[in-house]
Amino acid sequence: MLLYELRKKVLDTALSLPSYGLVWLAGGTVSARDPETNLVCTTPSGLDYRTLSAEDICVTDIDEKIVDSKYRPSVALTLWTNFFRKRPDVNAVVHTHSHAATAFAVTGQEMPIITETQANWFNRPIPITPYLSVEDPRFDMLPVELTADGFAVMLGQHGVITLGSNLDHALERAVTLEEAAKTYAYAKIFGTPRTLPPEVVRRSFDYYHNRYGQNADTEGEK
Ligand SMILES: [Zn+2]
Repeated sequence: MLLYELRKKVLDTALSLPSYGLVWLAGGTVSARDPETNLVCTTPSGLDYRTLSAEDICVTDIDEKIVDSKYRPSVALTLWTNFFRKRPDVNAVVHTHSHAATAFAVTGQEMPIITETQANWFNRPIPITPYLSVEDPRFDMLPVELTADGFAVMLGQHGVITLGSNLDHALERAVTLEEAAKTYAYAKIFGTPRTLPPEVVRRSFDYYHNRYGQNADTEGEK
């Protein structure tokens, strides 16, 4: 089967989302690019992932032409491939409607960086788009533009998108973003949340991805 390992990993990532409380039933989208072939593996549109196997993950080229797929891919395929086109360092996208992060996205505010853990995974505050229906002409590109060199964007009144050099990183960011939104909400109960200055956020991100733990000299993500 073409790209079996990556298709299996896309499916496994989608199946793991409910266990982190990020989606329920058939919610969420996962997409990943194979860096060698530039082919893209994406969850199909509107199906319960628990009923799928690796071969049910759609394979397209970077221009969205179907290469191997029996189902229609995610309706937002143009958005996912735009991230890959614009960001050579990004090979994975996770989209969820996780509760706390989506609640933040309902406020219309960008999410500040408030903890070191958040700074380790996000090099800048999380931008937010206005509400965009999937048929809005801005839907396919505005989230990519607002993300710039960051690793997440909130879709106003909708949910969140996280990026990574691989699926594990995109998933870790989806979990971290949800936890950050919860922490922010708790902090608001106790007082006024303080944000980390941009230079501290950049330094923390750089340290975590280049010099911390097992990452030294192996992780090119910046
Ligand atoms: Zn959605």
